[in-house]
This record gives sequence, C-alpha cells and structure tokens, in this order.
Amino acid sequence: MERDLFDAGHHDFRVMVRDFVAKEVEPHLTAWEQAGAVDRSLYVKAGEVGLLGLDVDEQYGGGRVADFRYSLVITEELCRAGASALTMNISGFNDLVAPYLTELGTEEQKRRWLPGLCAGRAVSALAMTEPGTGSDLKAIRTTAVRDGDEYVVNGAKTFISNGILADIVVTVVSTDPAAGAKGVSLLVLERGMPGFERGRKLDKIGLLAQDTAELFFTDVRVPAGNLLGEEGRGFGYLMGNLARERMSVAVTSMAAMERTFRNMLDYAGQRSAFGQPIADFQANRFALAELATEIQVARVFLDRCATELVAGRLTDTDAAMAKWWTTELQQRVVQRCLQLHGGYGFMREYPVARDFLDARASTLYAGTTEVMKEIIGRSLRKP
Ligand SMILES: Cc1cc2nc3c(=O)[nH]c(=O)nc-3n(C[C@H](O)[C@H](O)[C@H](O)COP(=O)(O)OP(=O)(O)OC[C@H]3O[C@@H](n4cnc5c(N)ncnc54)[C@H](O)[C@@H]3O)c2cc1C
Repeated sequence: MERDLFDAGHHDFRVMVRDFVAKEVEPHLTAWEQAGAVDRSLYVKAGEVGLLGLDVDEQYGGGRVADFRYSLVITEELCRAGASALTMNISGFNDLVAPYLTELGTEEQKRRWLPGLCAGRAVSALAMTEPGTGSDLKAIRTTAVRDGDEYVVNGAKTFISNGILADIVVTVVSTDPAAGAKGVSLLVLERGMPGFERGRKLDKIGLLAQDTAELFFTDVRVPAGNLLGEEGRGFGYLMGNLARERMSVAVTSMAAMERTFRNMLDYAGQRSAFGQPIADFQANRFALAELATEIQVARVFLDRCATELVAGRLTDTDAAMAKWWTTELQQRVVQRCLQLHGGYGFMREYPVARDFLDARASTLYAGTTEVMKEIIGRSLRKP
C-alpha cells in the first residue's frame, strides 16, 4: 500500500539516510554490539550530515525542520538495516532530549548545549527511571536541594540509554519531595561534575550496541542555571513530550517488524521441507497472510498518528494506542517469524534471532504496555 505522508523532501532525505546507514552504521554494527556501545565518531558523522537536531533552530546548529517525519525516516532506515539499537542514539536525541532543550531552554542554555549536541561532539541522555521506580515517575527519590546559586543532587538512576557516553543528562529530580508530582523538576547534569558517577554498563539481552547504564549522584553541585524551565513543573513538561517519545518507539517497532517479516518471506521461500518451500504449506501461508494483514493495518494507523503529530493534534491516548499496539504486535511477528526459521532462528548469525532479542524491550520502555492501557482506559472514563 502506498504511504501518503511523505513529500519529495522526505524521499530525498531517505535516500541520503539510507546511504549513511549503509556506509557508517552497517559495517560497524557487530563491533559495536561486542563493545556494548557505539563509537562516539558515529555522532560526529551523523552531525556532519545533519541527522542530529532536526527541529533545532539553525543558529544553534540544527536543521530547523520541525517535522517529525524526518526523524521517522531516520528511525525507519536504522531499523531497516537491523540497527534498531541505534535509534536511541540518534532519534533518541531528536525525539526525546532535544525537545526539552529547545522548548524550555533559555537563550544561554541553548547556546551552551545545542551546538555541541547537534554537531555530535557531545552526547545526551534523558534520565527518569530509578532503581525504585519506573512507571510511577512521581515517586522518584533523586533530590535536588537548593543551596544559594546551586542545587545539591543526591540519588540514582538506572536503565539510562547512552548513560555511559552521555555528556549532558536531562535529569528528573525532586526539588520538593512533599509536593509529589508538583515537586518534580528537570535539571541538566554534565560530565565531570564532582559526585556524578556512572555505574556499570548494564548486561542486556538485546539492543547490545546501545549503552544502558546506572548513574549515581552524591552531593553533586549543579548550577541553578542548569534548571530547565520552572522549578516544580517538570512532570508537566515530561507529559507534554511523552506522545512524541511513544511515537518514536512505535515507529521503531513498526519498521523493525517490517524488516523481520521481509527477511522471513525470503527465507520461507528458499527453505524447503517435504519437497516444497515452507512458505507454501497452507498452515504457513495462512500465518503469513495473518501477519501481513496485521502489519498493514498497524502501519496505516501509525502513519495516521504520525500525520496527526506533525499537525500538532496527536492525543496522548492515540499515542498510547500506537505504542502498545505496535510493540505488542512486534512481539507476535518476531515470535512467529523465528518459528518459521526452525532451528536456524535460534542462531544469532540469523537476523531474526537478533530481531527477537532486540524487540523485547519495546513493550517495556517509554511506558509499559500496562501503563499505556491505563492511559487509554482512563481517557475512556472521562466525561
Ligand atoms: C533498554 C532500556 C532502555 C531504557 N532507557 C531509558 C532511558 O533512556 N531513560 C529512562 O529514564 N528510562 C529508561 N528505561 C527504563 C524504562 O522506561 C522503564 O523500565 C519502564 O518505564 C518501566 O519501569 P520499571 O522497569 O521500573 O518497571 P515497574 O514500573 O516496576 O513495572 C513492573 C511491572 O508492573 C507493571 N505496572 C506498573 N504500574 C502498573 C499499573 N498502574 N497497572 C498495571 N501494571 C503496572 C508494569 O507494566 C510492569 O509490567 C529503559 C529501559 C530499558 C529496558
């Protein structure tokens, strides 16, 4: 089915991104998986061709194209090449971190942080989750206590994508623990601040090329000038960008499952059993037909949500629907595609094995499936 959400500019951009991924990502993917992180040079190269800071104003080094479809193209092309782990490196900056800096940052903050991030000289992360809480964000225990012109930060974060590489970490802190959600603020912590330590690189089952880490803060003195927006309004700021964050994950799952399915079709057409390609057994043909239909239906809904996001109309409910539906569908697709590979599907040298492991995180991060259903369910009960 023809997709109708792109114009010529997006098509040209896709050609450029596909070329970039073929030259600068695919040859290094296995080495990065073994290292547990990408090389920092990836950021510089991505910055050089304009993949970082798509929405950021040109004067701060960005591309000034406030159009989610460009970010979507990058995500799709990474996933097409089996590099869904890298979406958190590139799309993660564009969709998760940059919006906080561009929308909340003062002139001085933007000048200080954005040029380096857009050029790939600096790496960013968004630190919300803590060892004691993930889904229930307002229960965070990392505190930032004001002391003159500084905040003194104590606490810990975990599961932070780019946690080891990051130079600039947008950190969710409590500036007033008694106030619950109204005491949540966003504070930027920077590499080298005394008391800001990285823990171990976490040992994940998939997304191996992405570094995911623990962060520890012990009496870190952070200038008050690193506060993003207003004190106590952090929870609202986070809620304001969650639709985009969830769409970013949904787009990743969608593109990744399309790749898995395409590869599986090739495999099932070539592999024979009982004298015929395994794709031609009626049971498998029906299975393929079902998956193809579900993928197509999800694709249409997701593209519609992307169009709504670009128009500034995407609701949190629709974003939550897109997130849980595509990520859960991805689990079914990858599970079925692995089964159709027989024993080869269990071998890491086959892309489906890596797809299977990489897919598993998608129903967990950026809000679990259950949390998405809570959001949708609550919206149904609103008068
Ligand atoms: C690979 C990876 C990368 C990540 N990157 C980042 C990052 O960059 N920054 C960051 O801040 N975080 C990141 N996370 C953390 C992620 O967002 C959290 O793991 C997620 O929000 C869930 O939180 P939790 O792990 O504490 O699970 P919990 O909140 O402890 O949930 C455990 C289970 O309880 C269920 N549950 C919770 N509340 C409800 C409810 N109300 N109703 C029904 N069920 C419920 C959940 O759905 C889940 O099944 C990452 C995680 C992974 C795996």
